[in-house]
Formats: sequence, structure tokens, C-alpha cells
Amino acid sequence: MTASEKPFFTRQHIGGSAGVGLAASVAPALAQGAKSMKDQGLQNPADKYPKPPYKKQSQPWPGLASGMEPRPDHGETSYKGSGRLAGRKALITGGDSGMGRAAAIAYAREGADVAINYFPTEEPDAKEVIDLIKAEGRVGVAIPGDLRDEKFCQELVARAIDGLGSLDILVCNAGRQQAHDSILDISSEDFDATTKTNIYAPFWIIKAALPHLKPGSVIIGTTSEQAYDPSPDLYDYAQTKAATMNYIKALAKQLGPKGIRVNGVAPGPIWTPLQVSGGASMEKLEKFGGQTPLGRAGQPAELGSIYVQLAAADASYATGQVYGSAGGSGQP
Ligand code: NAD
Ligand code: MG
Repeated sequence: MTASEKPFFTRQHIGGSAGVGLAASVAPALAQGAKSMKDQGLQNPADKYPKPPYKKQSQPWPGLASGMEPRPDHGETSYKGSGRLAGRKALITGGDSGMGRAAAIAYAREGADVAINYFPTEEPDAKEVIDLIKAEGRVGVAIPGDLRDEKFCQELVARAIDGLGSLDILVCNAGRQQAHDSILDISSEDFDATTKTNIYAPFWIIKAALPHLKPGSVIIGTTSEQAYDPSPDLYDYAQTKAATMNYIKALAKQLGPKGIRVNGVAPGPIWTPLQVSGGASMEKLEKFGGQTPLGRAGQPAELGSIYVQLAAADASYATGQVYGSAGGSGQP
């Protein structure tokens, strides 16, 4: 960490003293902090990332971030931590790409050890994430496997705890989205795969993890603007996201008395492999996010800090909340 990247206030800056002692110790720190703080400047969020039209592209499910054009930004070069999750132990499903990868990078830079789950064919994306976690001096645990299998979900939690030593942040982020113009085009196998991935897997994983989660732990689910405003071609997917929003609120009530917070993130149109591997039609992809007030798709990097905020101990009164990030549209 360079001097300019150091957190503005640290325990050392504040010191253990009070009154005059505190003022005396804070004043030079303030001056030093002000000097070393880099001017971030103002940036128009509408112009921050590529806008539509995007290039038509398609990959076999579940797709790779490394194969997308333009490559999504997960915060690889931009996210700067300040120790907000020091010593925490996180498991993130779908941690290889998209929102899960942005969360994994941000968590590691905030001082957490991170285990990621992904589908076995996503190994190339996952390897990049593990390398980035390790580059922060944190423990990175890779656990490939299919979340549609209850036994694997149980093993996943056991292997994460084994690799991390314990668990106090659980991010149920993996999701399956396949667009179909008509309900008549959705087979029972399709419906089953979407439901298993988006509803059953979090159910199985949370059940396996709960006995290990101490007070102060957090569960975060990735829902969607689709939970509130479903698209006609996402009949099956959208209802699973409504279920996600609902389990977040139900579990927050159930687990609040145990000191475990449960919150959700509701993204809008975000540039991820899910969209180029069956999640969106080519017509939709070309104009992706263009209808939002910001006029473009969001990038996973723009959500990393939200996953941090919901996990951080200073957000201790936030539970049962859903935090939206949809470029001005959407209703969390
Ligand atoms: P993504 O493709 O990068 O991530 C989804 C991940 O889910 C994959 O990387 C994969 O690892 C995992 N996954 C899916 N099926 C699996 C299975 N059977 N076994 C193991 N892993 C499996 O895309 P993303 O958009 O970052 O998706 C993350 C979450 O965000 C999902 O829950 C998605 O529904 C939600 N979301 C996405 C958008 C968007 O526009 N991209 C909008 C709202 C919500
Ligand atoms: Mg992926």
C-alpha cells in the first residue's frame, strides 16, 4: 500500500487518548491526511463507461467475463480498500465474474479472506479472481461445483469454512437467467434449473452455514429490479428474484434476534456474462441499459462498494434492506 492509498483515519491516528490529547493527536493527522489525499475529481456517471450500442455477442452458458467485448470492469484496477472488513471471512457464490467478482475483489482489498464458488467451466475467470485476492495478501479459496445439487451446496459451506477457518459473510449471488419470449418456450427442465440455482441453492447454503454464523455475521442476497418490474421475456427468472427479495426480508426478521443481518442488492442492467450467455436477446443486448436515465449499462465495479457497505460492521442497523443500483430505473 502506498502512502496515498492509506486510510484517512486509522486507530493510530485517533490514538487512545481523550480531550486535549485527542485534539493534539488528530490535528497533525488531519493535516497529513489532507495532504496525502488524492483529488478524485468529479466524473459524470453517464460518461464513465461505454454506452450502447454494444456489439452483438453470444457465448455458451455460463459465459466468461474474459470473452466479453468490452471486458467488464470489476474494480480490478480501481477499488481501494480501507480496512473495513479486516479479519472477516467471506463465501461468495458466482464469485468468478460479474457482481460476485466485484464483491470478491472489494472484500479482499478491505481485508477479508474470500472463498468463491463458480461453475467448473468458469475456471479461467475464477483463477484471475483468486490471483487478485492473493495479491492482497489474503486467503483465496476456489470451490468449483454445481449449485443445483443439494449435496454440493452442503460441501461448499464445509469446504469454505475449512479453507477460511470460519465464516461470517455469506453472499448468495450466483444466478441463472435465460430469456424466452413465451412461457410456452420454457421447458420444465429450464424452469427447474432456474429455480434450483436461484431459490434452492441459497436455501441449502444458508441452512448449511447458519449453525456456523456467529452474532455480527451477515447474509447478502443478489436480487434484481426484475423482482419488482418483471420483463415479459424473463417469466421464470423474475419470479425467482421476487423470491430472493422475499427471503431476505423474512430471514432478516428471523435472524435479527440472533444478531445476524440479512440484506440484498438489486442491480439493474449490468454488463456481465449472464447477459451474453442466454440472459438477453441480441436486440436487448445491443441497447442494454440505454433506457435508464444514465443511458448505459452498469459495470460490476459500480456495485462492489455496496456489497462492502452491507457487510461492514458499522452498518449494524441495516437488516432486511434491499439496496438498488439500476442507473436511475428500478424500484428496490
Ligand atoms: P455472472 O454470469 O457474472 O454471474 C452469475 C454466476 O452464477 C456465474 O458466474 C456462475 O458462477 C454462477 N452460477 C450460475 N449457475 C450456477 C450453477 N448451477 N452452479 C454454480 N454456479 C452457478 O452474472 P451477474 O449478472 O454478475 O450475476 C450475479 C447475480 O446478479 C445473479 O444473481 C443475477 O441474477 C443478478 N443480477 C444480474 C443483473 C444483470 O443485469 N447482470 C441484474 C440484476 C440481477
Ligand atoms: Mg461467471
